Amino acid sequence: MSTEPLFKRVALIGFGLIGGSIARAARAQGLAGEIVTSARSAKTRARVEELRVVDRVLETNAEAVKGADLVILCIPVGACGPVAEEIAPFLEQDAIVSDVGSVKGAIARDMGPHIPQGVHFVPAHPVAGTEHSGPDSGFAELFINRWCILTPPEGTDAAAVEKLREFWAGLGAKVEIMTPDHHDLVLAITSHLPHLIAYTIVGTADELAQVTSSEVIKFSAGGFRDFTRIAASDPTMWRDVFLANKEAVLEMLGTFNEDLSKLTRAIRRNDGEALFEHFTRTRAIRRGIVEIGQDSAAPDFGRPHANLTKKPE
Ligand code: NAP
Repeated sequence: MSTEPLFKRVALIGFGLIGGSIARAARAQGLAGEIVTSARSAKTRARVEELRVVDRVLETNAEAVKGADLVILCIPVGACGPVAEEIAPFLEQDAIVSDVGSVKGAIARDMGPHIPQGVHFVPAHPVAGTEHSGPDSGFAELFINRWCILTPPEGTDAAAVEKLREFWAGLGAKVEIMTPDHHDLVLAITSHLPHLIAYTIVGTADELAQVTSSEVIKFSAGGFRDFTRIAASDPTMWRDVFLANKEAVLEMLGTFNEDLSKLTRAIRRNDGEALFEHFTRTRAIRRGIVEIGQDSAAPDFGRPHANLTKKPE
């Protein structure tokens, strides 16, 4: 007995880390009768053809969305408004239109007005990623046990929201629903600010490197290395994130600067007790993240370490 897939045709606009991971996972889970994609550049379209992870690669976004009952924009946040306007006349009645953007207020503002009557708009943000991008970077397991946050506008058809929730659950994600503003505030502290700090510290070290040359690279395992991974994230995506979530990021940055001043003062005043109390609190947060399964408890992020071989006698 064959069961119907959740969607007849899923159209992915953009095929990078996130689009490519959705395609691979949706195919592996049989969530779509057909998966089609369009991408901006001929180079990406040619590569997706070679990868054979979707059923059809189409030249234009308009062609891709025709006949699709789920359309997901997997492109930078700043590009979502113009693309929503471009595809609007070609969307099927009753289709669900979604996205994967890391900022949700800007998506509601930029895409919302272009979504026609009778089409359901359910923005989404899978809180999962790596520092890699492009059509080869995706993998089917990316969303397993990660959160996907849906931010449907008030009054959105409940059945459409439920169907998208089922889709993301099928990709392995845990799904939560919140308002775009709340999402942007939470993500400002958990994701956007850490990226800004990583971009800053790696940039600062780069200036230092003019003086100390290779030592920054040589001794990078002392904490710096973990910042470099985050600071290698896609420049276009992150430029758009900071511009689109300006208010919340600036608010969190204000609080961060105050806390940094407190730690600076503690160091200047030799206040070891304040430092110890602060570091004990932050250590507990890390333990909490491991306990709820959002990271591995393996030391050094599970990096393999070479065996210590005994010196020959
Ligand atoms: P990616 O690997 O760089 O892929 C981006 C895709 O968007 C490519 O297909 C690219 O086309 C296309 N694109 C770029 N600029 C465009 C434009 N102006 N108009 C139309 N298409 C454009 O990026 P990604 O990591 O998958 O990110 C995509 C979205 O996912 C972003 O909104 C990001 O905020 C969100 N997100 C990312 C992560 C993460 O960790 N990376 C996590 C969660 C959510 P070409 O290949 O033809 O250039």
